[in-house]
Amino acid sequence: MGPSLSLWASGRGVNSGVFVLPAETDLRPDDLIQPFRIDPFALRGRLVRLGPTIDRILSQHDYPEPVAAVLGEAITLAIVLAGALKYDGVFTLQTKSDGPVRLIVADVSTEGAVRGYAQYDRQRLPEYHPGNPSVPELIGSGYIAFTVDQGEHTERYQGIVELAGATLAECAQHYFRQSEQIQAGIKLSVARAGENGAWRAGGLMLQRVPPEGGYKVIADDVEDGWRRAMVLMSTATPGELVDPELPPRRLLFRLFHEDGVRVFETHPLEARCRCSRERISRILRSFPQDDIDDMRQDPVTTVTCEFCNTSYEFTPDDLAPLDS
Ligand SMILES: [Zn+2]
Repeated sequence: MGPSLSLWASGRGVNSGVFVLPAETDLRPDDLIQPFRIDPFALRGRLVRLGPTIDRILSQHDYPEPVAAVLGEAITLAIVLAGALKYDGVFTLQTKSDGPVRLIVADVSTEGAVRGYAQYDRQRLPEYHPGNPSVPELIGSGYIAFTVDQGEHTERYQGIVELAGATLAECAQHYFRQSEQIQAGIKLSVARAGENGAWRAGGLMLQRVPPEGGYKVIADDVEDGWRRAMVLMSTATPGELVDPELPPRRLLFRLFHEDGVRVFETHPLEARCRCSRERISRILRSFPQDDIDDMRQDPVTTVTCEFCNTSYEFTPDDLAPLDS
């Protein structure tokens, strides 16, 4: 495990170098991160909207509804959190636990490529109820980890905390209180709200920006502003977060226009896996020689990517030792 992750607290993720756009331009409704700030109260935030991207990821596997819903929330949460960081690589959220959904992996790259998968025991799954999936019921006890991987020869940051909360959003807020000591509010929503019952997802995160000169200079009205913003955020309904007819900027202005919300350039997202035949071949070749010899007894070795469900086939010849 790498050094403890303390990226959110550093303030490095401030949306620097972006410019303010008029509210009514750039109304692309889906598959994006919409950063915003409320400067009078030293707050920054992001609204994440997922349409075809989340439907594609959840449909690539034939997940039962409760699994699709909780994986959809985890992916949305990963994107909301990754948008707060300045990094060049891959941000991963992972849960590991003793409940019916024993493993969730969701990752997002700097370029906006998103993917995720879940492992579960079908027999133990509870019935599906619309709304925020219950962590105790579906995921159980375990931990949630956040990793930033910026490639070879760089430090790999990881933050990890016990799952504590009724929902994934609460678990993430618990993490922030425990590990980062910053204040953040998070709201997530996943539903079959698209055309023909397609999955849609939305996420909203607000966090306090550490002010120059430290928190001691915070005036009372900024404290009030934080509380007010959290109340306003709580008025965003699950339906609004996923509503295809309600563009992200319109939702933000509806919530925060009286407090001077400013929106910034959006970052597009898409469902894209990073697996390839070459990458999987490299992994197979890294196995012990005995295992490779075993695989070569079979006419075909099939490897299926857990993220995107693509199958790759290898013949004994494909796995023969490389000429060096
Ligand atoms: Zn894949």
